Amino acid sequence: MSEGKEDNVQVVVRCRPLSQKEVDAKYKMCVHMNRATGSIRIVRPKDSQSSGEPEHTYTFDHIYPPDATQSSIYDETCRRIINSVMDGFNGTIFAYGQTGTGKTHTMTGYPDDPGVIPRSFQHIFSHIEQADKTKQFLVSVSYLEIYREKIQDLLSKKENAVDLPIKEHPKSGVYVKDLTIVVCKDPKMMEAVMQKGSDNRVVAETKMNKTSSRSHSIFQISVECADLSQLDKDGNPIVRVGRLNMVDLAGSERQSKTEATGDRLMEAIEINKSLLTLGTVINMLTKKNPGHIPYRDSKLTRLLQDSLGGNAKTVMIANLGPAEYNYDETFSTLKYANRAKQIKNKPVINSANDPLVLKMQEEIAELKRMLEMQK
Ligand code: ADP
Ligand code: MG
Repeated sequence: MSEGKEDNVQVVVRCRPLSQKEVDAKYKMCVHMNRATGSIRIVRPKDSQSSGEPEHTYTFDHIYPPDATQSSIYDETCRRIINSVMDGFNGTIFAYGQTGTGKTHTMTGYPDDPGVIPRSFQHIFSHIEQADKTKQFLVSVSYLEIYREKIQDLLSKKENAVDLPIKEHPKSGVYVKDLTIVVCKDPKMMEAVMQKGSDNRVVAETKMNKTSSRSHSIFQISVECADLSQLDKDGNPIVRVGRLNMVDLAGSERQSKTEATGDRLMEAIEINKSLLTLGTVINMLTKKNPGHIPYRDSKLTRLLQDSLGGNAKTVMIANLGPAEYNYDETFSTLKYANRAKQIKNKPVINSANDPLVLKMQEEIAELKRMLEMQK
């Protein structure tokens, strides 16, 4: 097992442009970004009901003003995560923010302006093409959605694929039982699978009378690499597995705004549960002695467990709306993102060799050294 250094969760902020409607309504911006210093200033509108300081300034690893391109976000922020996945680390990229701020734009994008997920397909396969011929790769994907604390397989049309259980494997970690896994041979095939999942998502939405802003979607890619030039003691090639989660979270807006009642209110409470637990987990992870972290309190945090204070490399893209009427939600997203910056992960390469055995060998060597010193 190869251990990495401690690695903070990388937090970047992207602010979408004012929409045409907002421009027409002559809304002012409450967010001001300075790319040179990586800082964002948020100014409380004069007519705001909120109290506190009139303005706040935050700094992040990267900030993306309204004119930032999809490719700059991929190249500066996401590329290194995918490179690590190719080396056998786990990686997670998640988009957080109020509905309508550009999470899906950032993660999925459009055919003529693709987002992070389709860009990763090209990247993975060009990496494979350029790799040493002694390395053999297997790329597979799955696509799921969490809605009302139920996991739905977006690549399966089976009726029973709507409440899949989460299991834990002692070596490979948390996984979803019976989730469809599709082996992909090229970027085109991955795009087709992504499209199929997105289509199924729309069908499920109509059926259940919901919108995508109320569910979390996770697109997972697994990259296995067998290195024929590196054999273990039994003569088998060493196999590394990197897993990538790309998460488009449900809208983070407070539900009181929507004045939900009845079933919608229950739905709102359940959606908040995952986001609230995510917030609690983030808060606790930033404390000195966090104690018990409630990962198990929601499906989302359970699935992202390895990515939050765990062994993955993680990027959070916080999406903002710049108009003054979004001030409260935008301020709340900035505070959330600012806390997430402090989480530390400890990425390790996932090797298919038994890491425990290697660790024990190290421990035995250490004990021997101690015995020698006592002599
Ligand atoms: P969310 O998934 O957070 O609810 P969307 O990604 O659907 O938000 O974005 C809402 C609208 O704003 C869409 O019409 C989208 O095309 C537009 N939009 C979002 N981000 C940008 C951006 N960076 N540049 C241009 N348009 C954007
Ligand atoms: Mg969306």
